[in-house]
Amino acid sequence: MEISALATYRPSWVDASGRRTLGPDEDVATLAVSAGRLLGDRLADVDRVVLVTRRPDALLGTTPEVVLEGLGLDAATPFVEQVGGAPATVETLLAANPGTLVLAVDPLAPAASAAALVQAGSLVLDRPATARHSVPVRTVPLTGAGDRVYDDPRLLREQGWKRAAAEVVKEGMHPVTVAGVPAKVAGSLVRGALPGIPENEAAAPLLLIARAATDGQDVRLVAVENGHAVAVDVTLAGSVPVLTAERATHPAPATWEPASAAEIPASPAAYGRAFEAKVGFKAGVCSCGERHYPPRAQCVACGALDAQHLVPLPRSASVYSAVTVRAPVPGKTVPYALAVVDVDGTDVRALVHITDDPPGRAPIGARGRLVLRRIAVRAGVPDYGYAFQPEEQHA
Ligand SMILES: [Zn+2]
Repeated sequence: MEISALATYRPSWVDASGRRTLGPDEDVATLAVSAGRLLGDRLADVDRVVLVTRRPDALLGTTPEVVLEGLGLDAATPFVEQVGGAPATVETLLAANPGTLVLAVDPLAPAASAAALVQAGSLVLDRPATARHSVPVRTVPLTGAGDRVYDDPRLLREQGWKRAAAEVVKEGMHPVTVAGVPAKVAGSLVRGALPGIPENEAAAPLLLIARAATDGQDVRLVAVENGHAVAVDVTLAGSVPVLTAERATHPAPATWEPASAAEIPASPAAYGRAFEAKVGFKAGVCSCGERHYPPRAQCVACGALDAQHLVPLPRSASVYSAVTVRAPVPGKTVPYALAVVDVDGTDVRALVHITDDPPGRAPIGARGRLVLRRIAVRAGVPDYGYAFQPEEQHA
């Protein structure tokens, strides 16, 4: 099978161990959109989406609608949520038809997401091989209560990873790269393997394929999890676009817990009315041409009460005004920064929070992008909208 373009995303925060970790406004849906949006106009070719994650407890049952709207895809696009780690991502790619967008998302530290567009292109995956043994040393429960680890690293390495990897690595022309294990282990599983990466779940194979494409180096990719290994040759027939979003990192606070325990009530009716405009970042356009964000029942320019049609707004903007909120707000980690931003090429000003930077840094005039984020959790229901991500670091 062939891949025509790749995208990778890592969040802007790091935990005490230096691993990338999610901000308070990120989850599986926003991670998937953060990687997928990087493919830009190529998304017009997508007619099916598969989202792979090892963390089924992070799939909310509401994820597909949010991801499709966030990517600007038709709500009727077939969407499959696939539970699995690194081998599942490779198997999903191998089974995918042209037009499939494969999204792989790891929400736990080291957190990352990646996207691959399966379509005739310059990146070829072939010579697949699989080995599978039952070595249940590391298990992931559905409760979200944390991984159960039968703590025998040697058993996992020797009877799981190493044995399965050895069975799928044949003498070949490509150097080997290993996905699905911690970086420090990758080199010890297969003699001469390339250096590993921190990420070791569903996103890892795509991150390594993206690295191979960027380096212009053909590799044999081995994806392992417990006693399961899937290998494939990754061959570059030409240059492949690799779009990457990785900003400078900031230390995450010990907790993102809101200072106020009060809950924001949910309003299903308001959620439903606002969904397309909020999650697709669309303005309501009156027949007189006036644009409103959020859409309004009555036009402020001509007073018409006619239904407004929705059009997507540009995603680039600059700060018109900003403030840091320090008072405890239900559902929010304080302090946080709010901004009114001028959306490029329009007369629309949007009130949004500033994301991915410590609060109080983006000055008036700062340039940035509007990115899909989980802007609130109301009575347990995630509410999605847009936040302003500054382009550059401001001290
Ligand atoms: Zn009007």
